[in-house]
Amino acid sequence: MPELPEVETVRRQLEPLVLGRAIVEAWGHPSAKFASAPLAAGSAVDAVGRRGKYLLLDLDDGRQLVVHLGMTGQLRLRPGSEVDPYVRAWWALDDGQVLELRDVRRFGRVGVVAAGEWATLPTLAAQGPEPWDPALDDGGLWHNLRRSRAHVKTQLLSQRPIAGVGNIYADEALWRAGIHPARRTVTRRQADRLLAELRAVLEQGIANGGTTLRDYRTVDGGEGRNQLELGCYGRAGQPCGRCGTLLRRSVVDGRGTTHCPACQPRR
Ligand SMILES: [Zn+2]
Repeated sequence: MPELPEVETVRRQLEPLVLGRAIVEAWGHPSAKFASAPLAAGSAVDAVGRRGKYLLLDLDDGRQLVVHLGMTGQLRLRPGSEVDPYVRAWWALDDGQVLELRDVRRFGRVGVVAAGEWATLPTLAAQGPEPWDPALDDGGLWHNLRRSRAHVKTQLLSQRPIAGVGNIYADEALWRAGIHPARRTVTRRQADRLLAELRAVLEQGIANGGTTLRDYRTVDGGEGRNQLELGCYGRAGQPCGRCGTLLRRSVVDGRGTTHCPACQPRR
C-alpha cells in the first residue's frame, strides 16, 4: 500500500504537470468511492498538497479534490483516454492530458469537498500530525502513543499518533529504534528514538522515490528504489544487519510483521 513516501513522490511528480490546469471534463466509477470525481470539473488546480497518505488538490473555487490510492491505486497522465477497465476516475485537463486513477482492487477513494472540510473522510480527519510537525518533538509522539494501550505498531498504522506510516515504514522504524512491534507501552526515550527513526526512514523513502513491491508506480510509470534499502521489512529468515540474528515474521493485530528477536526485545 502506498505510504507517505510513495504519495509524496506522486505529489512531487504531479505538481508541475497539473498546477494551474483547468479540469474540463471528468468521470467517476459509480461506486460511492469514486462517484464524486466529476464534481471537480469546471475548476482549476491551484495547489497539489498531501496530508498523510492523502493527495489534496486545491481547486480555485475553495474546494479540494482528495485522492487516496488505497492498496493498488496509481495516478498517471495520458494524452487522451484509453480503454482500461481498471480506471476508476479521470479528469481531462485543458492541455489535452487526462489524469487517471487506475485502481485494480478498488480500495482507493476520491472526494470533492470544501477545503479542509473532511467530515466525510473520517480517516483523513482523524490523522495525527505530519511526521515533521514540531508538535511531535519534546515528547509529543510519546504523549500521543500514551493515549492508547494498543500495540505500538498498530498505533502507528492507525495514523492517529503520527500520519503517513504504513506496514513497511513501521517495521523499518521499529527495527531501527530497537522497539518490539507488539509492545503496549514505550518509554519517553524509546518514543524519541522512534520519532527520529520514523523521520529517517520516511526521508530515505522519499529520496528513493518510494518503495515498489508490487503495484506502486510513479506518475510516469516508473518504480521506486527504496525496496533495495530495506533492512527489516520483508526480510524474515535473513540475518539482522545489526546483530546477525535471523529476523522473525509474526502477525501483530492481523498485519504481517518482521522484527529482530535480539534487537527488539518484547520487554
Ligand atoms: Zn538484530
